Amino acid sequence: MRCTVDSADIYQVYDIRTDIRPTVAEIDLGALRGNADVVRSVVGPTVGILAVVKADAYGHGAVACARALERKVWGFGVSLVEEGVELRRGGILAPILVLGNFYGTSHRDVVAYKLTPVVSDIADLVRFERAIEDIAAGSKLGLHLKIDTGMARVGLSPAAVGAFLDELSRKPSLELTGLCTHLADAEGDEAATRKQLVRFAQARKEISARGFSPTLTHVANSAGTLRFADARFDLVRPGLALYGYGSFAALRPVMSLKSQVVALRDVLAGESVSYGALFTASRATRVATVPIGYADGYSRRFTGRAEVLAGGVRCKVVGAVTMDMLMVDVTDVAKIELGAEVVLLGRQGAERISAEDLAGWSSTISWEIFCGISKRVPRVYLGQT
Ligand SMILES: *Cc1c(COP(=O)(O)O)cnc(C)c1O
Repeated sequence: MRCTVDSADIYQVYDIRTDIRPTVAEIDLGALRGNADVVRSVVGPTVGILAVVKADAYGHGAVACARALERKVWGFGVSLVEEGVELRRGGILAPILVLGNFYGTSHRDVVAYKLTPVVSDIADLVRFERAIEDIAAGSKLGLHLKIDTGMARVGLSPAAVGAFLDELSRKPSLELTGLCTHLADAEGDEAATRKQLVRFAQARKEISARGFSPTLTHVANSAGTLRFADARFDLVRPGLALYGYGSFAALRPVMSLKSQVVALRDVLAGESVSYGALFTASRATRVATVPIGYADGYSRRFTGRAEVLAGGVRCKVVGAVTMDMLMVDVTDVAKIELGAEVVLLGRQGAERISAEDLAGWSSTISWEIFCGISKRVPRVYLGQT
């Protein structure tokens, strides 16, 4: 199995079956495309899909995922300007919205790389105006305005909308093409989302009363897309659902995390395993060593809690997860040998470990599990067309 696209170039020259550590994240681009179809079937033919590929597509690989999705979606959402630049350099031509903040000289890169800024701060208007004068005089920059309706992170306060529009009217090189907000609790409390939608409607009304008519309105993340039909507007912004998680029926997980048994030993009852003797065998125990650790994003918080799949059986991780390796109790696996596949996330036989399982074992959410799989783990792409 060769790494066809990878976050780290060095891995491209090796055959991962024989030459390097057998720990990989398999990315199923067929599943990714299928998940986009699921989102499409939920929102219908007229709503655009803004595929959120920030944070390297939640650890799945932004350029590879964007290429796989480009024909199925309206455009892409990233958090940082540099993430947008990476997509452009990777050949992505579709609209790219930068959902986060703008720092330093990044306003020039927004213009140079034809990204679309989502602006929350009135001070950015003059910076974008100057960037256009400097490098693209005479052209126009379309921008989206983000309203804070209850997330309290970024976004313009509804009370500041008037001043923002006044400033915008004085800048002919800037054009308001979109309007958006972000839901704080789309997975949870319906009343909280309803309140945000009411505030958003008020801001929209004020903006159109002032004679502005942004053509693209968008609000919904994955959960908002599914649960709130009236939050879909012109575009939806799914992230997690595209990677196969959330409550849409028929979503398929895109990432699997796989490794192999690289050492086997028998530990007697009363002996301990790994740093700090956090695990002591209560019976004669067959222990397998698996070359993945917290430096790969397999959290030390999994210690004493996580399970992996080996020989089609769920096996407990025993002892402290170390930086580069972990140990697994394989006593109950009928047949286990060096080189046997170990699945840390994904399917093996009839068993499956989900990102939600991993999130539960480390007191976090599935989003953080994906983003945490480090650059050291080569991404291997399946289903490239
Ligand atoms: C991350 C993000 C999304 C996607 O959220 P999911 O819950 O992963 O679907 C949508 N919109 C904004 C502004 C975001 O930051």
